[in-house]
This record gives sequence, C-alpha cells and structure tokens, in this order.
Amino acid sequence: MRETDGLIDLRSDTVTKPTPEMRRAMAEAEVGDDVLGDDPTVRQLEELAAARVGKEAALFVPSGIMANLVSLLTLTGRHDEVIVGDQSHIYTSEVGGLSLLGSVFLHVLPNQPDGTIPLERLRGAIRNQVYTPRTRVISLENTHNRCSGAVLPMEYLYAVAEVAKANGVMLHLDGARLFNASVALNVPPEEIAKPFTVVNFCFSKGLGAPVGSIVCGERAFIQEARRTRRMLGGGMRQAGVLASACIVALNTMVERLAEDHALARQLAEGLADISGVQIDPARVQTNIVIFGIDPTTGWDAPRLLERLKAEGILLSLSGTRLRAVTHYGITPRDIDRTLAVLRQILQGRP
Ligand SMILES: *Cc1c(COP(=O)(O)O)cnc(C)c1O
Repeated sequence: MRETDGLIDLRSDTVTKPTPEMRRAMAEAEVGDDVLGDDPTVRQLEELAAARVGKEAALFVPSGIMANLVSLLTLTGRHDEVIVGDQSHIYTSEVGGLSLLGSVFLHVLPNQPDGTIPLERLRGAIRNQVYTPRTRVISLENTHNRCSGAVLPMEYLYAVAEVAKANGVMLHLDGARLFNASVALNVPPEEIAKPFTVVNFCFSKGLGAPVGSIVCGERAFIQEARRTRRMLGGGMRQAGVLASACIVALNTMVERLAEDHALARQLAEGLADISGVQIDPARVQTNIVIFGIDPTTGWDAPRLLERLKAEGILLSLSGTRLRAVTHYGITPRDIDRTLAVLRQILQGRP
C-alpha cells in the first residue's frame, strides 16, 4: 500500500498509517470512560495483549516512552537504579525522564553490537551497599533499535534471568518491537516475555496502529501501574477509539512483519554491494538497517540524507550513520530505487 505519495519514507516504522480495517474498527468502536474503567474496547485490548505475552494483566498507555516510564517508575523508588545499555532507547532517547521523575539512577553498561550486555558485566554491576544505589531492575531491549534491530538470543534472555534471580533483581523488557523479534525467531511472544517481570510493546511501530503501547505484568503490578499512569497524565477517556485499531494490529499485522524483514534484508545486501557503504548485512535480522558512509567518498551521513531527500527518499540519522526502517508502506521496488539512487549518488562527489 502506497502511503506517502511519491515519497519512499524509510525514516521509521512509526510513519505507517492505519489500515482501512483499523479505520473501520475505530469508527465503530464501543467506548466508555477508561479512567473510570468503563471502556469495553480498552479492556478487550488489555486482555488480548496480556494473553498474547503470557502475563496476567495489561495497561494501555499513549506511547512507548510512557510504557517504559510507567513500568520502571512502578518497579522502583528513591535510591534505586536500573541497569540499561548505552545504546538503549531509555538511555539515548527518553530525555532522562526516569531519573528526573523517579529519583532513579540509570546504571549504563555498554551494549555489544548484537544488542546484548555481557553477562559478566551485568553480574559485576549489581550492587546494594549502604553507600551505593540499590540495583532494582535490569532493562533489556528486544529488538534492539540502535543495534540495527538486533534480536536478543533466547539463551541470552534466560541467562540474564538467572543473573537477575540470583541477585534479587527484576527484569524489564522494552519490547517496542517484541513482535519483530517473535517473527524473526519464529518463537511465540510469550516465550520471549516469560523471563521478564514486566514487558511493554508498541502498536504504533510496524504493527501500524496510529497510537498506543501497552505494559504487561502481574495483576497487582498493573494496579500500581495504573496509579503511575494517572500521575503521568496518561489516563485516557474514550480510548477505545484507539484501542480498537490496536486490536486489529494484533490480529492482522503481526505475521506480515516477515515481509518487512525480507525487504530490510534486500536493502542490506544491496547496500553491501555499493562501494562507499559500510555495513555488515549479517547484522540485519529484522526491519532496521543502519549503515555508515566511508569518509573517503567525500560524503557524510547528514549530507547524504539531504541529497536522498531531494530524490524523494527519506532516511534518518542514527548517530553518525544512516538508518532505514522497512514497514508495510514500502515495496520491493522502493528498495530497488533506493539502492539505485544511492549507488548513483555515491559515484559522484558531494
Ligand atoms: C519507539 C521506541 C520507544 C518509544 O516509543 P514512542 O511511542 O515513540 O514513545 C521505546 N523503545 C524503543 C526501543 C523504541 O524503538
């Protein structure tokens, strides 16, 4: 489906617009005041989402950032710390909100290029002395956005869960793209979610819903999370209009993520053949392609971004590199054109 008249918009999978089926569901959604607990469509979504990831209960929230905040503010208190990777969305892209709002420290450990944090680093970082903050939570990201959409291996998740359990630390998953991981591994989402105390995921990325994320965990935790959401101003009233699109997303948009992954693979392999592009296509496992530009070409990422934009091809920056994200608005021909244009641009000087 062509969403962006003439443009090839690879900036993010958040540019996806609601499908016709979502629009219909939104128009016809049964609604009520969800803050009062009266919205049947939100309740249906929460039950469906909780079941899909094998947790007792769930809470619908406006965004992935609020999902991370609600999850981690509910699990922590003053003097606590959360271990995160230095490439995590929480550390790189959320304005330090957790520390600001919760008096909670971020204990930052380096991510490997595959999105993991080495187990020995995790083990060595956990602390609970009278003179230190207390490590409460380890937060992982799967798929890992800034690590080119890397999928964390299942053995790794279970090994981290062992470390967490042995040290009385809880485990949180920023699963903004949990279903991309599930499809890439061909492992059900509840298997991926199992080792985690709390899991959140987004409907508004590759699943194509206009708005919404969800926090999933034990029933008592979700009751507390409801207070946190209220505090953040994230309680929504007739939110069934939004939740209805998220239900359609869960029911119709998960399996097709494999198509996005195939397009990302096509793009990564094509890029690897272009002189001046720095990429290891083996790193591309899902729908995010991050690549560098050899400075001897005379080009750098920001200038290339502008030049591509002039050709109607939109990418984004990831640090000093370029990022392309595939989604249901992108076709194989779009990828061919992107590769052809890029090849041509890099043959010339800026
Ligand atoms: C997009 C994203 C978020 C935040 O989602 P928003 O809905 O943009 O707030 C959180 N974590 C990861 C890994 C993401 O990719």
